[in-house]
Amino acid sequence: MTSLEKDTTVVVNRPAKSNATGMVENVLEQFNTAADIINLNPNIRRILSVTNNEIIIHFPAKMDNGDVQIFTGYRVQHNNALGPYKGGLRYHDTVDIDAAKALAMWMTWKTSLAGLPYGGAKGGIQINPKNYSQAELERITRRFTYALGENIGPEHDIPAPDVNTGAQTMAWIADTYMSTKSPSERSTHQHVVTGKPVGSGGLEGRDRATGYGVYLCIKLWAEKNNFPLKGKKYIVQGFGNVGYWAAYFMEQDGALMVGVQDAFASIYKEEGIGVKDLFNHINANEGSVQNFPGASEINKNEFFALDCDLIIPAALGNQITEENAGDVKAKLIAEGANGPTNVEGEKILLKKGVTIIPDILCNSGGVITSYFEWLQNRNGELWQLDEVMEKLEKKLGANFNDVDDAAKERNVDMRTAAYILAIERIEKAYVQRGIFP
Ligand code: GLU
Repeated sequence: MTSLEKDTTVVVNRPAKSNATGMVENVLEQFNTAADIINLNPNIRRILSVTNNEIIIHFPAKMDNGDVQIFTGYRVQHNNALGPYKGGLRYHDTVDIDAAKALAMWMTWKTSLAGLPYGGAKGGIQINPKNYSQAELERITRRFTYALGENIGPEHDIPAPDVNTGAQTMAWIADTYMSTKSPSERSTHQHVVTGKPVGSGGLEGRDRATGYGVYLCIKLWAEKNNFPLKGKKYIVQGFGNVGYWAAYFMEQDGALMVGVQDAFASIYKEEGIGVKDLFNHINANEGSVQNFPGASEINKNEFFALDCDLIIPAALGNQITEENAGDVKAKLIAEGANGPTNVEGEKILLKKGVTIIPDILCNSGGVITSYFEWLQNRNGELWQLDEVMEKLEKKLGANFNDVDDAAKERNVDMRTAAYILAIERIEKAYVQRGIFP
């Protein structure tokens, strides 16, 4: 029997309860705080307060047992004043229209602050990939790409990896997208996505770039604030691509990872958790940090209260809030995730003198190297790892200094300073070009 004959079950995945509640309010509040300070033109404020396009797609995909399931995919394009829309696709239960909107806005500020010729977008599918086989994920991804059609494109909207997606996902998207083009056009459409595997148009170093950028921001802050990293204790929330690579570089500078939290457990080890050991443990333990030898398991609500010098939240949004910010003992929070600290939580932290290196700066190493990959594909080049890391360090280092200087000059926190720089760049483009017609 084929999957479309009568007896086939069609399972409709019901949207889970939104976990993104407050994320749009959060990003708008951050934007408005900075916009007030620079007295942003009210017309431009109006434009930037809304998203340009919101695409919601319900599409079918065939499961291994022959059944068809209906999935819901999202792509929100916030703004493209500076260039094509750019931003990741995530596969997670919390993906919904609000999450995609907020995350798309963060991308606009991130690409602008980074000085890239891009706008901001974000999207994904509301699924837990753990519930699907590799073959099912491939069919889901390819069908989503096909359904997105010309809503994405190498000079229009360029997705990239995000939570629970990676180089393999990007390879499927690129292949599907290119397959819809005529043979003579195929090879010139590789840069429809970035974060592809090296060997399929991917960039050497793109895998570690976000984590390295988080580490670089911490290192630069530490140098300016007499805070040697050797022996400093830190905790990481989320040990995916960002958390792992940030920890990898922190360990090389002699910092001690004393706690890690993932979706399954929160672990603590005062003497420090070996980064490679934990990576191997996770791979042998169905992706979970649980039962790591020598570590004790703690209550998840006590994680951010752990005794440490700095925190790297590298998982989801809305994690450090008014509920737990008061318990934070660290001096520095380096936001590897997007939107991990909400506005109320941030107020408490700032009052306590905690510094927050904001997401739009701290995790921008990913999109900066996405830009390098895009250029590499467009120009038919192959860049070497050393060259990539050197260029990333130079660009992100300069951006860090710009934000730090702006924060001092204007006597504002780093997030507000970062938003001011990001908004001013977009404002300038609107002032120069005006509004059609
Ligand atoms: N998903 C990453 C982010 O949130 C990377 C985006 C990109 O490279 O386009 O910044």
